[in-house]
Amino acid sequence: EVGVLAVVGRPNVGKSTLVNRILGRRAAVVENTPGVTRDRVSYDAEWAGTDFKLVDTGGWEADVEGIESSIANQAEIAVRLADAVILVVDGIVGLTASDERIVKMLRAAGKPITLAVNKVDSQADEYLTAEFWKLGMGEPFGISAMHGRGVGDLLDEALDKL
Ligand code: GDP
Ligand code: MG
Repeated sequence: EVGVLAVVGRPNVGKSTLVNRILGRRAAVVENTPGVTRDRVSYDAEWAGTDFKLVDTGGWEADVEGIESSIANQAEIAVRLADAVILVVDGIVGLTASDERIVKMLRAAGKPITLAVNKVDSQADEYLTAEFWKLGMGEPFGISAMHGRGVGDLLDEALDKL
């Protein structure tokens, strides 16, 4: 049985872009419209000799109603089924109340979490990661899902927790 790694975070932070980067192909749908990945989608993945299942989720808006809450549900189910989680946040937007609500739910789920601060597109942008120490999830990994920057280090850490 291979481990299951779920990618969660609020809409538009770059979860699907990260999933595509890890898969090395364009499989997950990337959109400028927040919340476009409506369902859990699971892919067979491999990194540095480790096989695992990678789960992309719709944006996780924790406490809104209607369709958004069904997206939240899918993300919660994904976390329940996962062995480890990558929480993606947006370094350009910065820390939001939604991020903090998601962290609360992840803590309740008790799964090992690795924190990815996405859209840190260059070394000069690394300072964007600093405020995310506040989440109390350990070291925030500055990454650029779009360009691949930092993704290897992130995966080494996340797969170590599978
Ligand atoms: P999701 O809703 O979390 O799955 O986010 P998407 O992967 O669909 O990406 C949302 C938007 O963020 C798209 O316009 C992406 O092109 C953009 N994006 C994703 N990753 C990066 C990144 O590393 N750097 C920058 N600058 N933009 C990114
Ligand atoms: Mg998506």
